[in-house]
Amino acid sequence: MKRLPHTSRAAAWVILAAAVLSLVIVSPVFAAQEKPAWIAASSAALEKELVEKYGEAQRPRAHRGLEQVAGFWRAEDGGKEVFEDFVRSNFAGDPKTLDTLFQRYESLLEALDGNMDEISLAFKEQTDLDRGIVLPFDEVFAGYDPSAHVGDDFFSNKLAFVVLLNFPLTTLEQRLGDGANWSRRQWAEARLAQRFSKRIPAEVNLAVARAISEADQYIAGYNIWMHHLLDDRGQRPFPAGLRLLSHWNLRDELKARYADKEGGPARQRMIQKVMERIVTQTIPEVVVDSPHVDWNPFTNEVKPAEAKDSDLPAPAGLKVTNAPEPDTRYRILLGTYQALRRVDPYSPSAPTHIARRFDEDREIPEERVRGMLESLLTSPDFARVAQLISKRLGRPLEPFDIWYNGFRPRGGSSPEELDRIVSGRYPTAEAYRKDMPNLLEKLGFAPDTAKFLMERIQVDPARGSGHAWGAQMRGEKSHLRTRVSAGGMDYKGYNIAVHEMGHNVEQVLSLEKIDHTLLRGVPNTAFTEALAFVFQDRDLQLLGLPAPDTKAEAMKTLDDYWGSCEIGAVALVDMAVWHWMYDHPNATPAELKNATVQIAKDLWNKYYAPVFGQKDVILLGIYSHMIHSYLYLPDYPIGHLIAFQINEQVKKSGSVGPECERMVKMGRVAPDLWMKNATGKPVGPEALLSATEKALAEVGKGL
Ligand SMILES: [Zn+2]
Repeated sequence: MKRLPHTSRAAAWVILAAAVLSLVIVSPVFAAQEKPAWIAASSAALEKELVEKYGEAQRPRAHRGLEQVAGFWRAEDGGKEVFEDFVRSNFAGDPKTLDTLFQRYESLLEALDGNMDEISLAFKEQTDLDRGIVLPFDEVFAGYDPSAHVGDDFFSNKLAFVVLLNFPLTTLEQRLGDGANWSRRQWAEARLAQRFSKRIPAEVNLAVARAISEADQYIAGYNIWMHHLLDDRGQRPFPAGLRLLSHWNLRDELKARYADKEGGPARQRMIQKVMERIVTQTIPEVVVDSPHVDWNPFTNEVKPAEAKDSDLPAPAGLKVTNAPEPDTRYRILLGTYQALRRVDPYSPSAPTHIARRFDEDREIPEERVRGMLESLLTSPDFARVAQLISKRLGRPLEPFDIWYNGFRPRGGSSPEELDRIVSGRYPTAEAYRKDMPNLLEKLGFAPDTAKFLMERIQVDPARGSGHAWGAQMRGEKSHLRTRVSAGGMDYKGYNIAVHEMGHNVEQVLSLEKIDHTLLRGVPNTAFTEALAFVFQDRDLQLLGLPAPDTKAEAMKTLDDYWGSCEIGAVALVDMAVWHWMYDHPNATPAELKNATVQIAKDLWNKYYAPVFGQKDVILLGIYSHMIHSYLYLPDYPIGHLIAFQINEQVKKSGSVGPECERMVKMGRVAPDLWMKNATGKPVGPEALLSATEKALAEVGKGL
């Protein structure tokens, strides 16, 4: 988890929101879905006409363009004559016109995206920056999306159809197969056409938004009041007032308990039991987010709370029974599936949600992702790392040890010492900005590049934690946001600032130094996160402190590997559940529950049981992301793999700056192509696996 979401505007949920927005972009008011009856004959006649006018060589383009336009044309766009006029006047039948068309779209879309982005940036300043009171209208400004209707507008004014008439929609197969031989211009054309590859009716978007919002609310309110958990002796192992969100707090608490040598395991077992009851929905409904009942998760007994740790009034007529939650978890998941499935007919190049996630969002085929995750879990290192954990814990592994976090290196300077160094150096955000060229030069950037970057990165004091806001058009600044308190920056703020600076450097270089702005950015978020972590990992060296030693590096690798295995297995559950839903479109929540439990067990039995010595564990089904993030989970392990590959490459070359600059100029091409250019190999688990092998040898020395 730690790698992808925590500090950046490119946080996982933001990306999800963006993915949803990209669905929401296109939505005519009254959609007439059936294809107009005349359009096939009309297209055939037009193809003939265009070929006569521009020559036989234009036939494939004309055929494809007409097919693409006809595919999205609706009655409301106009009748036969409007269609024919449109095609005659907008087909670019000679190279010169086509070049002009391409260049103008590229520069005008940059202006559109860039200016929309500047509006959003300005509208969110009061809520994002540390600027005093936020008034109610500030929140409305912050929530306003000026570009929400652009997609709609572009279909109704037919600018989208001009693109569809002249540039190819591509499949993932083509982008991966032929893409390696495409020119940069061809890649830019593919990205241009992809912007208009969907035209989703308003009511479908609305249904998706509703399902997503219901799922978000369900997960956001799913808390467990820990002080009200009773063990078999009637004791309360957790402190008063501790209210943990199932989404991630339960796992964080479980991890934190590794530091608690005495009472840790008993508490961890209890959390595991709570998780199991959530997965199987045997959790008493009355327990969810309630400080008014006490619950023994082992016996499932419930009674009125005998301890009070909240001022919340008990709901009137509270019935204290252990009647289970009525499969709400799975009803909600089915709801998102049913809504997202309605997009399928309007997304011809990726006609299922599974395809949209893998082929469009990630651009790595599902089979390859599955293969990568399986190779983490079937590596001989898996059992060896498990043995090492068992040895370090001094006991046989228990199921919850999939979340073991004791490889984190400790030591070095104390937190107070680090705070003192950082606040002395950076009393203000401005002080950090002024020091950026120095930091960037230490990372190996040439002095003129360091200066170029500093001039394009503005440092702002953030209200919350940090984030990096990239510009969308050349000439505008990227923003580095981090917390600076009155006493100056503390170490945490600095650590985040260095991470965000990595994002900013990527944002500036992949926009300003790129040949086509249609290709600005990186293939997907995992890449920008990976680059940000390359910077962040070097924060101590930038302060002039010693780098982590080989042992600490090895421990970090093992932590990464073990975490990647866990989230990889969870991702495999997520993937299997989505396939099951597509295979059983009319399933009930209870049937989905049974299927999910079985899938979680099967995957556990396949990978974990042989090493842990316990069968039929269902913990891999606990993630809330499964319920409200609709197939996002595979991004986490892929992110780890990508980060590892990039980091290894940077280590090999010895200098961050030149490598980073070389890599990011590639822009938003297919992930494998980007990675081949960056490291010589496609995206894959090999870098992490071979580092794990070395780390095992290194850590083994000390045992
Ligand atoms: Zn980040």
